[in-house]
Amino acid sequence: MARLLLVEDDPTLALSLRLALTDQGHAVTAVGTLARATAATDADEPGFDLIVLDLGLPDGDGLELCARLRARGDFVPIIALTARHTLEARVAGLRSGADDYVTKPFDLPELVARIDALLRRCTTWPTSAAATSPSDETRIGRLVVDFRRREAACDGEAVALSDLELRLLMYLLARAGEVVTREALLVDVWELPASSRTRTIDTFIYRLRKLIEPDPAHPRYLQSLRGAGYRLDRA
Ligand code: CA
Repeated sequence: MARLLLVEDDPTLALSLRLALTDQGHAVTAVGTLARATAATDADEPGFDLIVLDLGLPDGDGLELCARLRARGDFVPIIALTARHTLEARVAGLRSGADDYVTKPFDLPELVARIDALLRRCTTWPTSAAATSPSDETRIGRLVVDFRRREAACDGEAVALSDLELRLLMYLLARAGEVVTREALLVDVWELPASSRTRTIDTFIYRLRKLIEPDPAHPRYLQSLRGAGYRLDRA
């Protein structure tokens, strides 16, 4: 059982989400505004295990809460619910520190699966990170990552990488020079069924490219191979 904070202003959607998540055995605190979500995260002593965060809230942008939590070093997993379809908008979400996002409208079972996967990953993160970390500091193009400390810098300037971004990078690094299929990424990094139809991977690759590549339009390090998958080259 996990303690979840559900931030969603659409009462119908909030109710069905709440029922579905309670049904999974989770304890759900539901709020409908940014102000109440902020108050809940400030007041909550033991901390939530995960936050489901709608981005379009009546009193502001859910991303503000994301950024606020990350700024104070709170890495509670956040799954964003967004009606924003553009790649740039989704990348902005990742930049603010959301770990994953689901685009509305979504299937309830898919969201529940993503929440479960995120909870699993985040409870296993510290040990798996230490065990598989290629070294303390790894450089890929413009990006330098310290997996153990979860710190990264692009051209010397600190950038925040989410749990999923770190996992994706680590996975690609461990297979540098090899072609990694989308299915493998879905199963091993996202812990979703290989058949999942999601554009999440594209968004993550796009964002990583912006951090890694000297010229993201002509990637040198992180290649997309049409119909095959992705390949990370160290040099
Ligand atoms: Ca909304």
